[in-house]
Amino acid sequence: MSSLVGFQTLRQFPRTPWGLYQSWLRRTSYAPPAAASNQTGGLTSFPPLQTYSEEESMTKEAVRKYAQERIAPLVSKMDENSAMDEEVIKSLFEQGLMGIEIDPEYGGTGSSFFSSILVIEELAKVDPSVAVLCDIQNTLINTLFVKLGTPAQKEKYLTRLSTDMIGSFCLSEAESGSDAFSLKTRADKHKDYYIINGSKMWISNAEHAGVFLVMANVDSSAGYRGITCFIVDRDAEGLEICKKENKLGLRASSTCPLNFDNVKVPEKNILGEVGHGYKYAIGMLNEGRIGIGAQMLGLAQGCFDHTIPYTRQRVQFGKRIFDFQGMQHQIAHVATQIEAARLLTYNAARLREAGRPFIKEACMAKYFSAEVATLTTSKCIEWMGGVGFTKDYPIEKYYRDCKIGNSGVAVIGPEWGGISGCNWTL
Ligand SMILES: Cc1cc2nc3c(=O)[nH]c(=O)nc-3n(C[C@H](O)[C@H](O)[C@H](O)COP(=O)(O)OP(=O)(O)OC[C@H]3O[C@@H](n4cnc5c(N)ncnc54)[C@H](O)[C@@H]3O)c2cc1C
Repeated sequence: MSSLVGFQTLRQFPRTPWGLYQSWLRRTSYAPPAAASNQTGGLTSFPPLQTYSEEESMTKEAVRKYAQERIAPLVSKMDENSAMDEEVIKSLFEQGLMGIEIDPEYGGTGSSFFSSILVIEELAKVDPSVAVLCDIQNTLINTLFVKLGTPAQKEKYLTRLSTDMIGSFCLSEAESGSDAFSLKTRADKHKDYYIINGSKMWISNAEHAGVFLVMANVDSSAGYRGITCFIVDRDAEGLEICKKENKLGLRASSTCPLNFDNVKVPEKNILGEVGHGYKYAIGMLNEGRIGIGAQMLGLAQGCFDHTIPYTRQRVQFGKRIFDFQGMQHQIAHVATQIEAARLLTYNAARLREAGRPFIKEACMAKYFSAEVATLTTSKCIEWMGGVGFTKDYPIEKYYRDCKIGNSGVAVIGPEWGGISGCNWTL
């Protein structure tokens, strides 16, 4: 793939990343691992869940290397300054990580949903804030444009989203959080344009975004059936991006309120159909949960991987901390939980990719991975003793970053595609 696998090869062919990807694509088997015939029993056998296609293996390894070399040195500074380094943003685009599923025709990497999940997991191992940026861009913004965009919208926005423009998803408001579809932002129709008034809260990546997908109601008498998705450019007159929140975790990821004061949006900037915004939001948030699952999984694994070497090196009572049986029981438990979170997340992603129902599995993956991240980061601080509680090690940051996984909650009951009798949570 152009840039995903190109981290090593870009140096070799510095001027042709996209061409390199396309020639690699032509040479490579691109399908996800498939079921194979069992020679002995004549039965169909299936590959283990953690079987990767050649493309997926290369992506995973390339992103692991990229994150270690280009992001890891900046993590602590970005957290302290509460700011995403511009070089990180630039390099994410250079590596093709901001347009993973976008067709190469629009400058994207032309890869798969499962590869996006692997990318998000690998980035979250190093910095969950960077993973959020990549996750929202790929699983929400790009997917909405790919699925719903007109040819003109795709040409204008997908080409930028894959190369240099960040997008933000604007649903939540001060009064409508979990109850997202009671939103109050209005879009009033005039001739061939709409005027948007209202405000949004908690908009991730807004500080750097060039385009905003804004859910606004065109007919409040119709309730949620009036909710429509508008494409709003950053430079739209009347759009104000307010001061970012001062957060506990994910500090490098900007989260801002937005104000819309008579923002004029041409009718051609409606994404999809009028009144279908709520359906699009539900659909995207369902897929987005798999992305959050991958974030939480990567975060847990990254924290664990930083901690275990310390326990192997630290000696007390004449023995390595790692070698005490009381420690080994705990470590084995956490390692098993992380593995279970991985299986849930990968299974949900494979189901989604196979076009099979995945909502319940996506909710479970997100819910369980967030629980595992909370457990892992808490245990890792304990296993490190006093130093785990300091900023000399990255463990306390993972502990802060993971809390969002089980605090942002929307209830998905049967009316929104959830399961009767159960409320699956965002
Ligand atoms: C860092 C961050 C980034 C975000 N990024 C975005 C973004 O990019 N775009 C966007 O649109 N939004 C974003 N959000 C908003 C996020 O989706 C909301 O915070 C979330 O939907 C919860 O809404 P709320 O904060 O208003 O909590 P509330 O809805 O007020 O909920 C408070 C508590 O009540 C519980 N609760 C609510 N209803 C029920 C119920 N029926 N049954 C049981 N418990 C219930 C909730 O679980 C929660 O624990 C972000 C939030 C944060 C913190």
